[in-house]
Amino acid sequence: MNLSRNNTLILAACAVAWVLVVIRIAQHEPVYEPREIVSARSDVQQYAREQLNALQRRSFSEGREFCGVIVENETGELSTMSVSEGDIASCQYEYNGQAGITPVASFHTHGGASIRYDDEAPSLQDLQSDISSRMDGYLATPGGRFWRIDWQSQTANLICGEGCLEQDPEYSPCPAHEPETQYDIKRLQKRFRDTPSRC
Ligand SMILES: [Zn+2]
Repeated sequence: MNLSRNNTLILAACAVAWVLVVIRIAQHEPVYEPREIVSARSDVQQYAREQLNALQRRSFSEGREFCGVIVENETGELSTMSVSEGDIASCQYEYNGQAGITPVASFHTHGGASIRYDDEAPSLQDLQSDISSRMDGYLATPGGRFWRIDWQSQTANLICGEGCLEQDPEYSPCPAHEPETQYDIKRLQKRFRDTPSRC
């Protein structure tokens, strides 16, 4: 009797939480309460680097993007909420708000090397998406470049260049796609307007 009553309460609580999340998504509000992030940026960056490096080989062999969200618990411990499989040129983050868990940064790979895409720099959509979700973002490219998108300064910054993360064995540098070390929205727009996508 007590057990079934407890189960009912738990189910009701889950349903309420689910309804809250659905309502807040419908209103296009963030599904979390902003809280000051405890972790140092250098720790988040190192954590993102490890996550991305671990995904690079699979990203190359399957020719698809992988993405995820790094979260922090109340004691400042970092973990990855979930890793989603995308396709050749996109990936949808999955994030479910939970009490006591704060999203800290997104990360994604750019799949395998391809002469059809200019994928050694963040896309305009990458930058816009991190700015609108008010989270930094980290990116690994097929050439092994490591990028950080800083949502507050609204810039993408190259942390380290070709081969500093795992590199696709199929990768060959494309002189026309050689990225700068920093982009804001205007400069990314210009890059994608002026650069041929095929090398
Ligand atoms: Zn991207």
